[in-house]
Amino acid sequence: MPVTSTSSQPQSSSKPKLSIKKVLIANRGEIAVRVARACRELGVRSVAIYSEADRYALHVKKADESHCLGSDPLQGYLSPHQIVNLAVETGCDALHPGYGFLSENAELAEICAQRGVKFIGPSADVIRQMGDKTEARNSAKRASVPVTPGSEGNLRDLEHAVEVAAGIGYPVMLKATSGGGGRGIRRCNDEKDLRSNYQRVISEATKAFGRAEVFLEKCIVDPRHIEVQVLADAHGGVVHLYERDCSIQRRNQKLIELAPSPQLTNEQRHYVGELAVKVAREVGYENAGTVEFLLDHDGSFYFMEMNTRVQVEHTITEQITGIDIVKTQIRIAAGEPLPFLQADISYRGFAAQFRINAEDPKNGFLPSFGRISRYYSPGGPGVRTDAAIYTGYTIPPYYDSMCAKLIVWNLTWEDLLERAERALEDMQIYGIRTTIPYYREILRHPQFRAGDFNTGFVEAHPELINYSIKRRPESLAAALAAAVAAQAGM
Ligand code: ADP
Ligand code: ADP
Ligand code: MG
Repeated sequence: MPVTSTSSQPQSSSKPKLSIKKVLIANRGEIAVRVARACRELGVRSVAIYSEADRYALHVKKADESHCLGSDPLQGYLSPHQIVNLAVETGCDALHPGYGFLSENAELAEICAQRGVKFIGPSADVIRQMGDKTEARNSAKRASVPVTPGSEGNLRDLEHAVEVAAGIGYPVMLKATSGGGGRGIRRCNDEKDLRSNYQRVISEATKAFGRAEVFLEKCIVDPRHIEVQVLADAHGGVVHLYERDCSIQRRNQKLIELAPSPQLTNEQRHYVGELAVKVAREVGYENAGTVEFLLDHDGSFYFMEMNTRVQVEHTITEQITGIDIVKTQIRIAAGEPLPFLQADISYRGFAAQFRINAEDPKNGFLPSFGRISRYYSPGGPGVRTDAAIYTGYTIPPYYDSMCAKLIVWNLTWEDLLERAERALEDMQIYGIRTTIPYYREILRHPQFRAGDFNTGFVEAHPELINYSIKRRPESLAAALAAAVAAQAGM
């Protein structure tokens, strides 16, 4: 167990009760299931919300109670007042926002505070401050953490953008100040590019985030995306849980994440961890958060943004450190101090997470929603699946295409690669197309295996899409499933 404990005795069942007794989960999909599981382990009751379209979703079954928030597939998940009202009515004393949806919505945190429901995350002020990427850059600067050269605050207009870009030097990144999820970002290689993209990014940002502000920063060419998990309690305790390498991305969206990064020296690892802690301290952070950096070829780290919520890839940090991040989030919200100091936190081995998306890689990663005629979850040592699917489940077309996460752990990088290959082969999803066969190709690529890649990897290797699917026919899968079920007496 990587976290050193002061006592080797098993904890007695008379441990002090948590001040949080019931949590409303303001989300859906695998993260809602993840939160329900953490609640169950803590002896805390959980309440799920769902739309009509999600009536048969897994999170509805996993929570202790569930409440429908209407027929519109999205509106219920995006209505802070309605959600907090339900939390109050159902006697919840806390609310977990997950990721996506309202997780970085300061208004939700504010309403929670007004209604006496503890928001499991930082304060509304901190969410607002870090949700604005130019404000976040200023906070990093105040903490003496390096940021990429860029505009001082938001751009006034196109001519201002052209002037700033000339000062920074091309290529530049034009970014939506309130962007997220890889959207609202455009690389501009020259002035012509900037002129043609300017209005496009503004419209995209207005449509996706309801805000038109944009800013510029220097484009670091083919950087590594390195991010650090932090945990901060309400008593001034701040620690980091080391880094994740999320350089395998497509269109600025993460596909495969690794922890720790196979591309850092120990010295770099401790240095970037310290930088993240500095940022968290500067803004008076509370709860779990992630500080994202770009690593340039010359070894410089630049602060990029802070995500003020649990992250999709928190799982791999859990695997290498042994710390349950979601349970710790709930404990922090309950006012408990962190149960460890920085020196108590170590990591062991390597972990990888594969985002299993309901998409067809061969068809431009077009969403591939529909009924899952058969699903096999892989198992064996060091394999974890956090999923929101089951055999017979129909993936509704209204939400994110990520339907499962496959997480693999092993002691060494080489052993991790072997196990990942085996687990990806084991995982069988019929009825829809997924990113699994594409990941198997990436895993075999010598550059990936050598642990030497940057955010340009996916674009530089379009040939990896040309896989041919070799897998068990579904009829054989069905026969195997029946045999397993019979064996287990199901
Ligand atoms: P992570 O930062 O945890 O790796 P992603 O960037 O992939 O996660 O985002 C997780 C989910 O949250 C995705 O569904 C993404 O579209 C959504 N998301 C992230 N940030 C925002 C935002 N600012 N506005 C709307 N959706 C967002
Ligand atoms: P989001 O809020 O959507 O996650 P980020 O600011 O974290 O947006 O950027 C997402 C991705 O875009 C990064 O992981 C990186 O690959 C790329 N990116 C962002 N800023 C830069 C930059 N200045 N130079 C190069 N790549 C960048
Ligand atoms: Mg980001």
